[in-house]
Amino acid sequence: MENKILGLHHITAIAGMAKKNLDFYTKVLGLRLLKKTVNFDDPGTYHFYFGDEKGSAGTILTFFPYEGARRGSAGTGMATNIAYAVPDGSFDFWLDRFEKHNVIYNKPSEKFGEKYLTFLDPDGLKLELVIPKYQDNRKPWETDGVKAAVATKGFHGVTLTVQNKEKTAQVLTDIFGYELQEKSGNRYRYTTDAVDTANIIDLTELPNEARGVGGAGTNHHIAFRVKDEEVLMGFHGKIAVLGYNITNKIDRNYFYSLYFREPGGVLFEIATDNPGFGIDEPWDKLGSSLLLPPQYEPRRAEIEAVLPKVD
Ligand code: ZN
Repeated sequence: MENKILGLHHITAIAGMAKKNLDFYTKVLGLRLLKKTVNFDDPGTYHFYFGDEKGSAGTILTFFPYEGARRGSAGTGMATNIAYAVPDGSFDFWLDRFEKHNVIYNKPSEKFGEKYLTFLDPDGLKLELVIPKYQDNRKPWETDGVKAAVATKGFHGVTLTVQNKEKTAQVLTDIFGYELQEKSGNRYRYTTDAVDTANIIDLTELPNEARGVGGAGTNHHIAFRVKDEEVLMGFHGKIAVLGYNITNKIDRNYFYSLYFREPGGVLFEIATDNPGFGIDEPWDKLGSSLLLPPQYEPRRAEIEAVLPKVD
């Protein structure tokens, strides 16, 4: 497994108001705020990371919140649905919670033999809770409002919507080691056996659907997980030789990354397990203060002055 893609690492989306985003994911959904930092390419904007206790790969959802951002619209060339695994029997809790917090949701349904519950975050980002067929032994983050018996365990998988699935599927199978597992209508489920969880990518093929437009409530990119930088650079070679325009290795402080756009239009990242979220804060204090990468530390006062208040 060492040199393989190990399922999902993180998923990144765009949000509107920072405080609303933070409150929804920590208080309503019960995720841990792992890191409160800034967009390294735009330090006047937050970058929030949410996940489990240690920020394990496959649990990390991140946001760039822009106050007053225009809503995007989901469409082809985008990740259009983010699914979390939850324990069997937890839907009654979640339905009740969504009612209480005015969360928009659909009544539970079933696909590929798994029950799921679709809901929207405050910006309209589509998410899903899934009761997986397999045993998910990941230890969830627990809050006062969301106990372990019902809490999300991390990603189940993600759906990518594309006009033509063929070339996207080739990236998944030929480069990333995924295999087509099941098909239902225009939905194709790809999985990797390199890991037991967060290992599902569904491709939904919609030939006549419009391209997605980025903005609040839409996905920005999805990141696949590798063990370390050596494996990362192995993938750099494999992808570059196929003619994809892939970035050099980028230091994201908590992981190292490469980015390329897959042929269906979705921005793909590959990210390492190392060094992880304990690099600049004690584990019991994750997310408690604004963390800046070294290059922005000298500008802290100026950055803090422009960031919206979220506490
Ligand atoms: Zn990323």
